[in-house]
Amino acid sequence: MYAIKRELKLNNKEASQMLGIAGFKRVVYNLGLDLLIASWQFPGVKASDSKRIDAIKKVFTQVTMHKRENSWMKKYPSTVYQSAFIDLKNAISRWRKGLGGFPKKKSKNIGDSFTVYKTAGVYPEKGKPPVPFTNRVTIESGKRIKLPGLKTFRLKEQIGFICSSQTFTVSRSADKWFVSFVLDAEKIPPTIHAIERAGVDLGVKCLATVSNGSKYDMPITTLKANTALGKLQWHNRNKVLGNKKLQVPASNKAKKYYVRLSRQHLRISNIRQDTTQKMTTDLSRKVYNIRIEDLNVSGLIANHKLAAAVSNNCFYEIRRQLVYKQAHYGTKVELVDRWYPSSKTCSRCGHIQDVKLSDRVFHCSKCGHCQDRDENASINLKNAPTDRVRSA
Ligand SMILES: [Zn+2]
Repeated sequence: MYAIKRELKLNNKEASQMLGIAGFKRVVYNLGLDLLIASWQFPGVKASDSKRIDAIKKVFTQVTMHKRENSWMKKYPSTVYQSAFIDLKNAISRWRKGLGGFPKKKSKNIGDSFTVYKTAGVYPEKGKPPVPFTNRVTIESGKRIKLPGLKTFRLKEQIGFICSSQTFTVSRSADKWFVSFVLDAEKIPPTIHAIERAGVDLGVKCLATVSNGSKYDMPITTLKANTALGKLQWHNRNKVLGNKKLQVPASNKAKKYYVRLSRQHLRISNIRQDTTQKMTTDLSRKVYNIRIEDLNVSGLIANHKLAAAVSNNCFYEIRRQLVYKQAHYGTKVELVDRWYPSSKTCSRCGHIQDVKLSDRVFHCSKCGHCQDRDENASINLKNAPTDRVRSA
């Protein structure tokens, strides 16, 4: 399975349509939850939660939706309320199994979302087998997407290939809207890798250095965005979003600030996600056997400056992405023992010497070999002996 998520490029009319649909889903979900709780008050009725929710759905479609004041509900695809009831069923069953808390009512503040799907098939419930391929919507390569039951929407970033999926979830984060859907990994043709094996040094200065000589940098925008975030937080350090206990309402300026703050956090995480995703995809396309260092992050945290770099360059995130992309791109990711001296060894003669963290260039005291520290380390990772390597 492979999930794709893209930001939608909506005009005002489309954005308010999305808000409307998300609101509809919220109303249905909350109504279903209220009625389910109410149904438990009658001790005489013996029925499973699932049966009860089915009965509530029947009342909803046959009575509630036909009331005149609810005529607005009919302009939205039926899959929206169908999936609201399925979400409710899943939430209740998770709670019954002890896997989650009691379902909370949906509110606007938590972030809106709704699901639409192609109605020819059956919406896949948890634990049920996946739906057949024929019930799927084909998504053409490009910057447009047709959502089942809705119209075609524009995307900010293109989808680079033809694919298909059945279920589409639209979600809102700050004032941005996203669509996500799942593809089957095996539907994508196998990749032929140009490079058999490469070592990748995940770095502090540079995001990744590959043993074939290529480098991936973290865009300078993250640095700028981080500075902007710090400034924003400092200037607004005394703003509080009200206090419920003391019944102090949040000021308009505080509300505005928290919207800006969440937008800025989102921006930074988007840039990071975007960069690491692009880098790991590019690497998985080019290299078959990818070797990275098995980093001991807790050891690195002791070094104060490195700690920021580790979280910044998201070592773990990169490793996670490389590992899950194995199935998709047919790659083999290997971890090199964390005690293997990849940065202390000369990649030409094998001589081991002490290197200071500040040394950006490796200079071998035995053979005189001189090379960029990260490049030297990446070559050593590539050539690491098999007994110091394990598969990820
Ligand atoms: Zn040497």
